[in-house]
This record gives sequence, structure tokens and C-alpha cells, in this order.
Amino acid sequence: MIVKTEIDLIQNYLSDASNYKSKSCDGLFIPENYDELVTLIKISNEKKTPVTISGAGTGLVGGRVPKDGIIVSMEKFNEILDLNLENKTVKVQSFVTLNELQNYLDEFGLFYPPDPTEKNCSIGGTIATNASGARTLKYGPTRRWVNALKILLPDGEVLDLKRGQWKANGYIISFETGNGNKYNFKLPEFSMPQVKNAAGYYILPDMDLIDLFIGSEGTLGIILEAELRLLEKPLELISMVIFFDNFNDVYKFVSIARKEEKEEAFKKIKPRALEFFDDKSLKFLSEKFPMVSNKKFAVWYEQEIYKEEKEEILEQLSELILKSNGNLDDIWFAFNEKEINNIKEFRHSISVLVNEYISRNNLKKVGTDIAVPAEYFREFYRYCCEQCKKYSIEYVGYGHIGNNHLHFNMLPSDEEQNELAIRLYKDFCIKAVEMKGTISAEHGIGKLKAQYFELMYPYEVLKSMFEIKRVFDPNLILNRGNIFSEKFYS
Ligand SMILES: Cc1cc2nc3c(=O)[nH]c(=O)nc-3n(C[C@H](O)[C@H](O)[C@H](O)COP(=O)(O)OP(=O)(O)OC[C@H]3O[C@@H](n4cnc5c(N)ncnc54)[C@H](O)[C@@H]3O)c2cc1C
Repeated sequence: MIVKTEIDLIQNYLSDASNYKSKSCDGLFIPENYDELVTLIKISNEKKTPVTISGAGTGLVGGRVPKDGIIVSMEKFNEILDLNLENKTVKVQSFVTLNELQNYLDEFGLFYPPDPTEKNCSIGGTIATNASGARTLKYGPTRRWVNALKILLPDGEVLDLKRGQWKANGYIISFETGNGNKYNFKLPEFSMPQVKNAAGYYILPDMDLIDLFIGSEGTLGIILEAELRLLEKPLELISMVIFFDNFNDVYKFVSIARKEEKEEAFKKIKPRALEFFDDKSLKFLSEKFPMVSNKKFAVWYEQEIYKEEKEEILEQLSELILKSNGNLDDIWFAFNEKEINNIKEFRHSISVLVNEYISRNNLKKVGTDIAVPAEYFREFYRYCCEQCKKYSIEYVGYGHIGNNHLHFNMLPSDEEQNELAIRLYKDFCIKAVEMKGTISAEHGIGKLKAQYFELMYPYEVLKSMFEIKRVFDPNLILNRGNIFSEKFYS
């Protein structure tokens, strides 16, 4: 086991991509095999030492940043263990990165559908946060692709969970572990928002036990391994960036493409990604991609082709673009693999460019991860824009419009504006909750959003959610401060 206690040597582990920072911790532990990890966790549990689990640190809510106690990094558990070509499944250790997995699968003509924009994240981190990406529009979030998990519980027992093995009876979960430990507890009864959602524990009547662990942000157990479902790569991809002059036209295009209106003329249109860029995003991106300078709004459209139907799809797409007043003569169309990757890079670059701008100008960013139901999306987006304009706060909006989920980033120019932006952020969360949406559609709650998570459910619901943590982690050592704020611990 590698152990580091000097603050200079662990500095990188005291923050994540959100820039949320911790000043210190009692040490960084890097176990090199499962025996070392199990012993470490058992001792920490006995001594009630808080443990924060570190993945690749690309999280955006401070989830892997320790409040106190020790950090346990999973970085040595980075093996692809088994590929089953017949069943199209792969078994990986938790620290295999998404990039490594996709590159490996490429050779076999397979792919793993979840695709967070950041590809250096670990698979364990994506399961802990139930990460999503552009392809979530077609394929749902990470949870849909997880068949089985190997989880280390705080008492040192390793739990093997297979999808379908343990199901709740209504809201009662009863199961027995390999060591003969019996668990029997009641889930809180509440309704999760019917939108893309990564806020808090996933709870439904008759749910699968594995789903409780997926998205639990490391508060219930440590993910050691996962078996993931895969798909065959499509024959070809249609990928293009379409430009629009106003937001209403953008949303018309998106609504028809999503088949909200069942029009026969567009039946071949089946996007796997519909991603949005506002004028400020395009301004940022024009530094690197000059072809988007002076454009107002854009949508990145991606569709898979599995059989000979490309011409028909393209014809219907042209019709749709015309119908939504998009500019048919000025489309960025990917004619080859290189251009397809270039458009992906275009999408990835926006968050990077915004972050670079922030650090270059010593500014702060107040970013949202909110999704609302389709019927409220336009109203919600307009409200956010209007509020920022009212207070002269610069903003940039982009992201997963197909899921009614944007990253609306406020870029306050000074401390006074920053405070205002934080107030607006809370206001946006309240409005989203009133509209039956979520304050976190994909990044999770972590430590940064725990206070806003409390806007989503009554205190009693949150308290009974926290009781589930007590069931698996009675000494409350794992990932303290994630999802639940400090008051739940007293
Ligand atoms: C530029 C950029 C773009 C991004 N785009 C997206 C996006 O499109 N969609 C999206 O969903 N996210 C996105 N993210 C956020 C981030 O990539 C994801 O949250 C990712 O899942 C985090 O993985 P990680 O390995 O870096 O985890 P970390 O940041 O290290 O940790 C995240 C959380 O998971 C827990 N954790 C990590 N490993 C384990 C484990 N083995 N067992 C239990 N708990 C564990 C940590 O304790 C922490 O709470 C983006 C981030 C950046 C910087």
C-alpha cells in the first residue's frame, strides 16, 4: 500500500474538476490489491475514521474531496478483466477509464453507450454518480448498462450484486449476503422527478437492489468491479451541427426530432444526441472553431445507421431543418470519421474553454445541472436568461437539450455579482423543483449541492433516505458530506 501524508504530495487529491478544495486530510492511501483495501476499510470502520473514495477526480460537485479523515484512491484497480463477446458484456475494475474502455472495445466492433463528455473519468466514478452524456437521449444513463457490481461494504464484506438477483417487495428490501448477514429495511416512499436525474438515492417500489448503489456517490459502499452491457457499433453515423437564428426554432427542431409530434414524414429521424449551444457558447468556441463565429444558436445532431437508409434519413432531416427554419445552406456536416471526431471535440471543448476563460480572468463560475420536464423547458430557459440579463451577469448555456437539461453557467465579474449569481442559482433550483424537475440531472450532489438537494424533498424524506446510509454504513465513515449535509450526521 502506498501511503502519503505530506500535504504537498496529496495536493492533487484535495480537489476535483469543480475546483472545490479541502485544506488537508489525515493521509492518502493507495491500496495495491483488494486485501490491502479490505483491511484498510475494516480498520477505518472500527476506528470510525472517515474515508473519502477517490476516482479520477473529474467530478464537478466535490464528491471525492475529503472533509476529514483519509482519502482512499482506487487508481491501482485499473484492469479490464473479461470480455464476453457472445453476451456482449465486459467486466472491469473500478479505475478503468472510459477512454481506455472505449478504445479497447473499438477493436471488437463494440461500444459502451454511456458517454460523459469527459472521457478520463473512471468507470467506478461514473457508476457512483450514474453519469450521463450526449447519448443518454437514446440510451439512458449509466445505470441501464450495469449488469453486476462487486461492492466493498464498510464492515469489510464484499457484496456481489447481479441485476435481477434481489428485488424490493414494494418498499421493503430483504436480502442475505454471502457471509450470511441479513438485511431487512424499508425504503422511503416518495416520487423521484420524471426527468433525467442524478440527485440522491434512486428509489422506486419493487426496485432492484443494485440500483440503490448506482448513483449513491460512494456513500453506501466502494465499487470494486462492474459487469457492463455493450452494443455493436453502428455501420455509420450521421453527425452535423445545424445553425438557427432563434431559440424557438431550435426547440421546434428538437421537439419534432424527439417525436413529440408523431409525423409520418419524419419517421426515420431517431437521434442519439441532440446538444445545444447558445450564442455565447459559439463565441467561446469560435476561438478554436472559426466556422461558428457570428452564429446565434446551434444543435449538434447525431444518428446511428444500421442499414441502408442513409439517403432517406438525410432527406427527412433536410425537411425537418427547413420546417424549423434552420439554415440548410450552412450546415457543418461530418463527411468522415475525422470530422465526426472533430464535432465531438467541438462539444467537449465548450466546458474546457469556459473553464480556461474563468481561470485566465480570475473569475468564478456558477453552473447549473438542472433538468425540467419538456413542457416547462422553454419557460425555464427564458427565465434563467432574463434573470441574468436583469442583473447584467454574463452567462453561457449549452448541453443536453434533448433531455431538457442544460448547463447554464453564470460568469460573475466580481464578488458582488458572484453573491448575486449564487442567489440566482438557488432561485433557479427552487423554480426547477416547482416545475417537477431536478437540481442535478447528471453530476450528482456531492458536497457542493447538498444544501440545494434539500429543496427537492421534505426533511422527513431526506432523513429516511439517510437511514439507508446507516443500514450499510452504521459508523457513517464513507464519503461523509456527499448528498447529505452535516446536520444529518448529528
Ligand atoms: C469537462 C467535463 C465534462 C464532464 N461532462 C460530464 C457529462 O457529460 N456527464 C456527466 O455525468 N458528468 C460529466 N462530468 C463529470 C464527471 O466526469 C463525472 O461525474 C464522472 O462520473 C466522475 O468520475 P471520476 O472517476 O472522475 O470520479 P471522481 O471525481 O473521482 O469521484 C466522483 C464521485 O464518485 C465517487 N467514487 C469514485 N470512484 C468510486 C468507487 N470506486 N466506489 C464508490 N465511489 C466512487 C467519489 O467518491 C465521488 O463521490 C464532466 C466533468 C468534466 C471536467
